[in-house]
Formats: sequence, structure tokens, C-alpha cells
Amino acid sequence: MKTNLWENYKDKKAEVFDFCEGYRNFLSNNKTERECTKFAISVAEKNGFKNLETLIKENKKLKAGDKVYAVNMDKSIAMFIIGKQAFENGINIVGAHIDSPRIDLKAKPLYESQGFCMLDTHYYGGIKKYQWTASPLALHGVIVKKDGKKIDFVMGENDDAVVGISDLLPHLEKGPEKKAEFSGEDLNLIAGNMAKVDAKENKFKAFILDILKEKGIEEDDFFSAEIEAVPAGKARDFGLDRSMIIGYGQDDRVCAYTGLMALMKIENPEYTVCNLLVDKEEIGSVGATGMHSKWFENTVVEVMNLCGQYSELALRRTLNRSNMLSSDVTAAVDPNFTAAFNPATDAHFAKGISFNKFTGAYGKSGANDANPEFIAALRNQLDKEKVAFQATEMGKVDQGGGGTIAYIMAKFGMNVIDAGVPVLNMHARWEITSKVDIYETYRAYVAFYNMKIK
Ligand code: MN
Ligand code: MN
Repeated sequence: MKTNLWENYKDKKAEVFDFCEGYRNFLSNNKTERECTKFAISVAEKNGFKNLETLIKENKKLKAGDKVYAVNMDKSIAMFIIGKQAFENGINIVGAHIDSPRIDLKAKPLYESQGFCMLDTHYYGGIKKYQWTASPLALHGVIVKKDGKKIDFVMGENDDAVVGISDLLPHLEKGPEKKAEFSGEDLNLIAGNMAKVDAKENKFKAFILDILKEKGIEEDDFFSAEIEAVPAGKARDFGLDRSMIIGYGQDDRVCAYTGLMALMKIENPEYTVCNLLVDKEEIGSVGATGMHSKWFENTVVEVMNLCGQYSELALRRTLNRSNMLSSDVTAAVDPNFTAAFNPATDAHFAKGISFNKFTGAYGKSGANDANPEFIAALRNQLDKEKVAFQATEMGKVDQGGGGTIAYIMAKFGMNVIDAGVPVLNMHARWEITSKVDIYETYRAYVAFYNMKIK
């Protein structure tokens, strides 16, 4: 392998740039788990995938080569292509998460302070709070009325007005009450500064409520809503050489996009293949749409049933004999923070897809530690397909660590390893990736879907 992958792509740079153009647009246009799910459905349907629910209702059957998808509460999706082999010989799964760190509105967000209408928030996922201040934020989400009607809500994209969280000027930070870090309660969005003249009280709140009313939204509706404040604006090429991409939510939408696009390349696979895009990873994979939910298992049951292959025993064997790439990002060695890394064993840009045999922290605690037998088969397949990969860790030992959905899938007894794109400033508003790593990750996922590990 070359030291910098761009050397391999000297004559094929256009191929990498073309793929990443699609990815960049995807990032710009899909900033919530619901938007990503909608995107995946549209790509899947264009490629001949059928909705599982419709097939069940119409009493249809599935056979080898058929394509099917299932959606969970509009926030996660599983797409399958039925293999020639029986289910109980295992599924090749590529699983990513489509939720990203952000600032969520509270259920009762509107209040007034100092002549401003404000929106109270509760942040989601691991963020460095100061990074989210003094910058344009957009609001994306959904509001559900009492009668069940859904109002999609997006403001702050393109040339639209944005909202944001103010920060204190440096001139006034010298006092005795110098604040080292923002608290969660400090993360309040400024929503407006105009007053409703004829309002008896809360004139500033009333003004904003009037604007919301035009969209059919009442104050109490925020209780049945999911509104996320996310960085406003488009993802961009990064670097004078345009070799990288900067954009919001690349953890883990870079692995979601590559896994999805790779699946669309597969026809008539030997073993059943699956791309799984889940929610709630950033807060512990909990809830009905997180990986800990039974939803995936239930979905496999439904798909096996339509193939005439379901029994409890067959299900257990299927999950037990499956193989999975927990497709999630890892930290790349940062030239500005080398002290946190061991450059000899951590991931670098332009060296291909990164495999973390284990994640966890402080003595591998909480890690899924992948089996060498599985890794050997993977190495063999990637070498055969000439895919560039790096075997990495995430940061110095005892520096910290992270987790993914790997350990949850491993509970079924399947082989799982973490495999994804290295990222700079992960969990910041704008994260950076290398285009050549993105492309190589896509190629690795194609190779994995086609893999025979029995
Ligand atoms: Mn992640
Ligand atoms: Mn993360």
C-alpha cells in the first residue's frame, strides 16, 4: 500500500471526486435521522426495493434476488437483498447510525428574556458546548398535531433566516465570575426580537407564536414534536486541493451513505445482505429506534417468514451465523492535537477504511473485541478486491475512547468488527473526512457484501 492513497488514484481522481460529490449533496440535504431515512427509502425504491409492510399486506412471498426494506418509526431502516443460500447460513450486515450530535428543542421551548423571544434546548449526544455558540443554526424536524397531522419543519437552509446561541464578548470575560465552560442550560437559541404591539403580556413570545401560527403550529404542539437545531448551510470541499469534505453529521452519515450506495451495487448475492441504518447511537442506542430495540430481530423474522424460512431455530442460527461491519467513524490523527494520539497505531487520512478490532476505553472496557478468525477472512477478501484499509485504535491508551453498535449485534453471537471512515474534529459542528477514504470505504462495503465466510 502507498503511504498516501492519492498516489494510487493519480489517474482515477475523477472517480473518487464524482462519488464524493453525491455524498456531499447528501450531507447538505439530510441533517436528521428522519431526513436520512427518507433519502434511503428513495434510493432503495429507485433500485427495486419493495416495502416489507406492503408485501405482508398483499400476502406476497420473497425469493432469492428480491430486494426489500423495512422502516422503523421513520427514523431507522433496514434493507435486504435475499441470497441464494438459506438464511440460516448467515446475513452479511453493514450497520451505521444516522443520528448525530445536535441541540434539541425542549417540549416547552418558548420563553422571553431581555426583549428577546428565546428557545430552550436540551443537547443531544456528546458535544463541546462552546462549539455550538455564535454560529448560524437551522431548525429541522417534525411537529405532530393532536389529530395526527404531521408538519415537516425546516428553517435556516439556503438563504433562509437562521437562529443561534449567543456567546459573551472577550472584553467582558475578565471579571471575577469568569466562566470556563457553557452549561447545558446556557444553550438557548435566540428566536426573535420583535414585539407584538397589542399583546397584553409576553409581547416577544407572542410575535413568534403568530409566525408559527401561520404554519399551523401552536405553542402546545412542541410537546409532540422533534425539532433539532443543526448547523445551517451546505457541506463543502475542504483544502486547497479539495481532497477533503467538511460538513455536519459525518459521524455517522459518511458510513450510512457508503453502506447504502454499496448495497445498491449488489445483485443476486450468494448470502443475504443487509444495510441497517439506526437511530439513537449517540445517546446509547436506546429507545424503540435504537440498536438495543427488538425491531431489527423482528424485521429479520418477517423477512424470513416471507421467504418461507422462519422458525425460532432458523432465526437463532441466522443471527448467530451472520457477519457484520459495524460501520462507524473513528478519530483520525489530528496535526493540531498529536498528544492525544499514538500516530503509529491510530488512523490517518488517505490510508483507507479504518478497522478498529476493539473500541471501549480504559482496558478495552465496553468493547466488542473482534475475532481474529473473522478478521483474517476479511483481510483476505479486501486484499483480493484491492481495497486499502488500516488496522487502528482510537487515541492513546487511557486517553478516552468510544463505542458503536458493535457490541449490541455481537450479543446474537455474530462476528462483528468496527469499520469506517477516519474523521477530524468528530462531534464538532463541522467534521472533516478524506474523499479517498470515503471512496475506499464504499469499495470495502461492496467487497464485504459479496464475501463468503463459511
Ligand atoms: Mn458514530
Ligand atoms: Mn458519535
